[in-house]
Amino acid sequence: MEKTYNMEDTKMLLYNSATHKKEEFTTHTPGRVEMYTCGPTVYHFAHIGNLRSYIMEDVLEKFLRYDGYDVNRVMNITDVGHLSSDADTGEDKMLKGAKREHKTVMEIAQYYTDAFFDDCRKLNIKTPDVVQPATGLIDEFITLVSGLLDKGYAYVAGGNVYFDTSKLKQYYIFNAHDEEDLAVGVREGVEEDANKRNKNDFVLWFTKSKFEDQALKWDSPWGVGYPGWHIECSGISLKYNGEYLDLHCGGVDNAFPHHTNEIAQSESYIGHPWCKHWFHVHHLNTNSGKMSKSKGEFLTVSLLEEKGYDPIVYRFFCLQSHYRKGLVFSWENLDNAAAAFQKLIAKIAALEPADGPVDEAVSAEYREKFCTQVGNDLNTALGITALYDVLKAKTNGATRLAVLDSFDQVLSLSLLDKAATVREEQKKQKASSQGGYTITGEGDPAVDALVLQRYEAKKAKNFAEADRIRDELKQQGIEITDVPGGASWKRV
Ligand code: AMP
Ligand code: ZN
Repeated sequence: MEKTYNMEDTKMLLYNSATHKKEEFTTHTPGRVEMYTCGPTVYHFAHIGNLRSYIMEDVLEKFLRYDGYDVNRVMNITDVGHLSSDADTGEDKMLKGAKREHKTVMEIAQYYTDAFFDDCRKLNIKTPDVVQPATGLIDEFITLVSGLLDKGYAYVAGGNVYFDTSKLKQYYIFNAHDEEDLAVGVREGVEEDANKRNKNDFVLWFTKSKFEDQALKWDSPWGVGYPGWHIECSGISLKYNGEYLDLHCGGVDNAFPHHTNEIAQSESYIGHPWCKHWFHVHHLNTNSGKMSKSKGEFLTVSLLEEKGYDPIVYRFFCLQSHYRKGLVFSWENLDNAAAAFQKLIAKIAALEPADGPVDEAVSAEYREKFCTQVGNDLNTALGITALYDVLKAKTNGATRLAVLDSFDQVLSLSLLDKAATVREEQKKQKASSQGGYTITGEGDPAVDALVLQRYEAKKAKNFAEADRIRDELKQQGIEITDVPGGASWKRV
């Protein structure tokens, strides 16, 4: 990727959930970002709410790279240990998925991991540098749990290993909430675990659990069992990002208890502060409330495609709003985004690509403004507005296209490719326009020629020949419709 700027030029401001402030983004090692993203729990398809988080995290990563940073981005795949309640009770989500589909847990994990990356590809979300399924790093988690026991931060009770939150100077990081309120919120409808010494303690390693049919189990010093959900992210990040993490991302629901528990484990284990910036994406909701995999219409990328939407339109829709505000999804809102996106692409397609050299001074001016605007707490809405500003810029088409292409390294809307496709279509249509008779079709010159022959036959009042050609095309599955000034055809 072209590096136009570096952090000397543009200081990114980013809201940090840990300090509740917008701060200048800095890193432990100058010029390098160690970034961690909580990955999907692969027991079902990702819904478009989950994907809102991954889109915004993708833009953040790309913006940092654009700003000149070298980024090491790590993501886990949760394929074990995530129970249906964040308070360590309920069923393992993976097992639930396997039962639902009469498959093994590993088959489910593979299928939905592939599906997740297919969705990401359709949404132009880059695959992180490291992707680590939790089941592939069990030894590291055991080392971490052993270390926490040795240092006195953990205890064994009822066969499980628990983190002892009473050993911490500070447990709540993200929420200024009253402890009781939080605990009630988490406990709602959930059975208390009598083994816990303190209400916020959480499981590091399950051995004796009520899930006798747990499919995946490993040997450990505490008996055969499996890791808790939180320990996987600490373990994976410590292995691939090292002890100093610069940026940790996730949806806002991850802040408590998941990220709170990750901090407790990681800092107790390494003995110093762990991650500086915490980036939380707020939720995508529907008019009827929170988006969920189990309730109502399950909104997936495939469903968007089935309904005829280009997945990139959904990305465009997400970028129009700030990541720290809830976003309401409705088909009407998506239609508005689709119409705006189509107009934007048409305007880009109308630019003349080879009308002179790129004006580097103008280009630098626009890029600098873009960095300042998007670099102010990842203001992607201003990033989109910047595209329209470029279209209006008093400069040639080549410069405008170069700047748009540069912004698209961050926004990833395939702007130039889509504009080229529109231009190609327009060219084909022009090419088949002869003698005032315009043929609009799917760009097949052989079909266009037959449609033209039919027109010539009709003009010469040779209706039998015209009908013969229509039948011949029909046999090929092609339907012609006469329109004012020409004809259009499509394959049916
Ligand atoms: P999961 O697969 O449930 O572990 O979630 C994957 C990611 O999606 C996590 O970062 C969640 O915080 C995030 N997430 C869950 N629901 C939503 C939502 N409605 N909108 C945005 N992000 C979400
Ligand atoms: Zn995580």
